[in-house]
Amino acid sequence: MTEGAGLEPVVPGVVPARVEIYDTTLRDGSQQVGLDLTVADKLRVAAVLDGLGVDVIEGGWPGSNPKDAEFFERAKSMELKNAQMAAFGATRLPRRGVDDDANLAALLEAETPIVTLVGKSWTLHVDEALRTTREENLAMVRESCAFIAAAGRRVVFDAEHFFDGYFADRGYALAVLAAAVEGGADTLALCDTNGGTLPDDVVTIMKEVGAAVARDSAAAGRAPVRIGGHFHNDSACAVANSLVSVAAGALHVQGAANGYGERCGNADLFSVIAGLELKRGHELLPPGRLGALASTARTIAEVANLPFEARQPYVGGSAFATKAGLHASAIARRPDAYSHIEPAAVGNQAQVLVSELAGRSNVLAKAAELGLDLDSGLAGRVLDQVKEAEHRGYAYEAADASFELLVRRSAGVLPTWFQLEGYRVVIERAASGPGGSGADRSEAIVRLRLGADRVVAVGEGVGPVHALDQALRRGLAEVYPALADIRLVDYKVRILDGRDATRAVTRVMLTSADHEREWTTVGVSDDIVTASWEALADGVAYGLLRAGAGAIPDDQLSEAV
Ligand SMILES: [Zn+2]
Repeated sequence: MTEGAGLEPVVPGVVPARVEIYDTTLRDGSQQVGLDLTVADKLRVAAVLDGLGVDVIEGGWPGSNPKDAEFFERAKSMELKNAQMAAFGATRLPRRGVDDDANLAALLEAETPIVTLVGKSWTLHVDEALRTTREENLAMVRESCAFIAAAGRRVVFDAEHFFDGYFADRGYALAVLAAAVEGGADTLALCDTNGGTLPDDVVTIMKEVGAAVARDSAAAGRAPVRIGGHFHNDSACAVANSLVSVAAGALHVQGAANGYGERCGNADLFSVIAGLELKRGHELLPPGRLGALASTARTIAEVANLPFEARQPYVGGSAFATKAGLHASAIARRPDAYSHIEPAAVGNQAQVLVSELAGRSNVLAKAAELGLDLDSGLAGRVLDQVKEAEHRGYAYEAADASFELLVRRSAGVLPTWFQLEGYRVVIERAASGPGGSGADRSEAIVRLRLGADRVVAVGEGVGPVHALDQALRRGLAEVYPALADIRLVDYKVRILDGRDATRAVTRVMLTSADHEREWTTVGVSDDIVTASWEALADGVAYGLLRAGAGAIPDDQLSEAV
């Protein structure tokens, strides 16, 4: 498996040696603050990554916590199509044998084909963190790699703090890699653990290490082992460092979905994959899978319960969106003139945003995207409505679903699923301290018309918006079972005019999701509950539109409720 591990830079026109894609979302990525995956979540993320087609999925650290041990136990019955599973753990403890090391034993018990061992390569850490001799650290690396390799597992060695270690004591950092090679590691991942290294230094060091490791490999009587990189984004260079590593000879790249990771994150694996495939001709994923990149990124964000960043390169909702009305007609003529890649290559689309700056061509382009053919009179009316609404505080750039509803409503092609007759909300706040729980509890009563039927539903929740959402769902659940798949994922409130606090306008942006995608709706009012209701009702209507739910026949609609 180390044959052909070329350490030369990629030569233009020459098909490069295959680069291995190693995902560490479930181990390093899950160190991100606010990212808390259950075992079931981790299994789902692993299945999604396997579906995308990464080579290696690092599932966790079985020796460190029961959750990861349980993950590996349950992962044994997963049928992976593309990826191999890796278990992660540290080299043995100082002054102890490999045979009585619980961590190494847990790694073998995980029964993964690949084991990744992390070891110290910076003298500062050997002296101060490990508090052992430098010779003992080399023995720990060599013996641990040999122990795992002897069990028939493939060994990846993560050289922790490698770049800092290389600057501090180049000879020792290389001696650590040599010990791993001697022990039987077939891949050496140079880790920029503190994330401070810049791309030009990465290139220099990757090339120097490549040459040195080739010598060490020959001395150990082996083919050159594979060199790889593991970069953190503290200098905003994690993706750049990953890309230049490959140009400098690395054949293994580690990263995390959506750039998840502690502090500023790990290298965003999706940007790395897209860059290497589309711009450097590497074949990393199975044929045709690059088109699943955007949906994979979104799905993992959904499982992680984190907002999906619209500005995320390649896969974000705004990655190919453009605002200026000036450009819209030119974009319609030559889309390639305004984007760095064809958005469809990564499963994304060129979204045309609507805004106060929008011209008629923007509205027409957006309508065409929705499959609506507006004549110029209707386009003019839609544009007038957008401008008028934006003047009152609506923002349609992020509220794609509300905009679509507005266009369909203006074009007379929006069905009606329910009509509001009225609602009432009671907000209760008990005093905290002795005799009071301090909990907020709200109750909402919503009266709806569903054609000839009148429905009254009650909902309870934490706060008035939650209670209204519950009541609306309860009122519609029987008639529209599709609602069961639709949930609220994000709720944002913004006060638009703070000069007169009592008369400030409130804008609510609300994101809903089904199992495939998210959509955002907007409501504006001088009352926060009214604004929230508007966004809620739009969110539900859009979900029903997506689900193709049957609407109320026109002759049963009541007038102006
Ligand atoms: Zn890391």
